[in-house]
Amino acid sequence: MRAVQYDQFGSVPSIVDLPAPVPPAHGVVVRVAATGVCRSDWHAWKGHDDSVRLPHVPGHEFAGVVTAVGADVARVVVGSRVTAPFVFACGTCDQCRAGATQVCSRQQQPGFTLAGSYAESLVVPHADVNVIALPDEVGFVEAAALGCRFGTAYHALHARARVEAGEWVAVFGCGGVGLSAVAVAVAAGARVVASDISHAALERAAALGAEAVPMDDLAVDRVRAVTGGGADVALDAFGSRVTSAASVASLRPRGRHVQVGLLLDDEAAPVIPMGRVIADELELLGSHGISVGEYAAMIDDVVAGRLRPQESLGRTIAFDDLPDALAAMDRPAVTAGMTVAVF
Ligand SMILES: [Zn+2]
Ligand SMILES: [Zn+2]
Repeated sequence: MRAVQYDQFGSVPSIVDLPAPVPPAHGVVVRVAATGVCRSDWHAWKGHDDSVRLPHVPGHEFAGVVTAVGADVARVVVGSRVTAPFVFACGTCDQCRAGATQVCSRQQQPGFTLAGSYAESLVVPHADVNVIALPDEVGFVEAAALGCRFGTAYHALHARARVEAGEWVAVFGCGGVGLSAVAVAVAAGARVVASDISHAALERAAALGAEAVPMDDLAVDRVRAVTGGGADVALDAFGSRVTSAASVASLRPRGRHVQVGLLLDDEAAPVIPMGRVIADELELLGSHGISVGEYAAMIDDVVAGRLRPQESLGRTIAFDDLPDALAAMDRPAVTAGMTVAVF
């Protein structure tokens, strides 16, 4: 099968021919129909993620069709249209038994610890736990967006921040996950203010229903002004010391900060004013992907039209464009919204 692979961190990947995968007894093979191009793929490619072994096939947000099923799989059949979260859970650890598959103690991740979805096919292990059937109304491109960025925003706002209608949500960083967060928060009935350095990204956020403020030294003051004293919920959807600190600083008393953007490499240790966290009883929450169990409600929202992941899409590209699209993230994005490759 054809796959995008790199032999060294930071060297432009090539398109190679690899043996077609075979499913383990508990797993399935999915023929990829669409795969997202995500900043986390870029982090892995730059060598920021020490779980990646070379040579490596990236890609962790995908949808496609099941083409082979292991002997012990009970619930998944060949020919099904499916997706899966980017955290492949074991199904049996304490976290999985509690329904928190997104923090499975024995998790594997396609495009990080396993070969990913920048390929014609990939293996999904523990398929009875991880595979999610797609209704016909949800297209492969939309579904590819659900697994990482949209699902991550959904989990961050609902399961972690417990967002309520009428609350103010501030979103720092309007890339794929940030724009998804704007859409999820608006659909939840929240009022949203979004900040980014990119004018194009802010226009996308405004079109989704957010008040838009530029990300600069005055961003926190602007958010506090727009929200009348600070946000109830604030997300760092980018992942940097600056956006993380801005998110915390933008909160009103008893506000909830959710760290969604990965803090890696030089950005790993943001300075958080813990004095304010105490005085204002702020909550600092981490958020990591989405549990398998949350998909049903999210997909219902998509089918009903309350959530429209297609509105967070930027452009679609071809399989052959994947190496360049990965490398292009060295530079600021030209177009706002998610890039999804369609095979
Ligand atoms: Zn991703
Ligand atoms: Zn587990």
